[in-house]
Amino acid sequence: MNLILFGPPAAGKGTQAKRLVSHHGYIQLSTGDMLRAARTSGSELGLRVARVMDEGGLVSDDIVIDLIEEQLERHSHAPGFIFDGFPRTIRQAEALDDLLARRGTQVDRVVRLLVDEDQLVSRVTRRFEEEGRKDDNPVTFSARLEKYNEDTAPLLPVYAEQGKLREVDGMSAIDAVSAGIEQALQVTV
Ligand code: AMP
Repeated sequence: MNLILFGPPAAGKGTQAKRLVSHHGYIQLSTGDMLRAARTSGSELGLRVARVMDEGGLVSDDIVIDLIEEQLERHSHAPGFIFDGFPRTIRQAEALDDLLARRGTQVDRVVRLLVDEDQLVSRVTRRFEEEGRKDDNPVTFSARLEKYNEDTAPLLPVYAEQGKLREVDGMSAIDAVSAGIEQALQVTV
């Protein structure tokens, strides 16, 4: 099972991805986590992406596609992958299709978590207080949301057309959202 968890920043993708990892043994591939780890390690890549991340922009497609390719190679025997925060552009989505096709697999399901904007803002404000993620401040967050609407949301009709898109209410309690996702995974395309 190759699943894309889709939704704006702070929709709960990371939380739900971790639950799927513990229930199914899938590998979570979060490009945001990988980029943050690169920054923490002080690598050349980390230095290159710092500013764009802090401004709420998107890191170049080539960088994130390389990160994903590296992880797909590293986990070649995984029972499935959960893509969290990737793909975020049409080019990334096409690259993902290619990378998976070369391995004889495909994107099986795209689950969109529906959360309204007011709720996103209140979640991100809380996360900013709790985790101190620089890009969760209100100004950067609105830039991230804008990027999502401009560059990422256009992927939705593409996956809908392929019959892979399912929508889950992301405003319910965490357990209820997980149950919705499990159900979405069982429906045959
Ligand atoms: P996230 O934790 O997924 O919200 O990602 C944090 C930041 O990392 C984003 O605001 C982007 O600057 C960058 N980033 C993460 N994933 C991607 C991606 N697939 N494409 C471009 N930039 C990304």
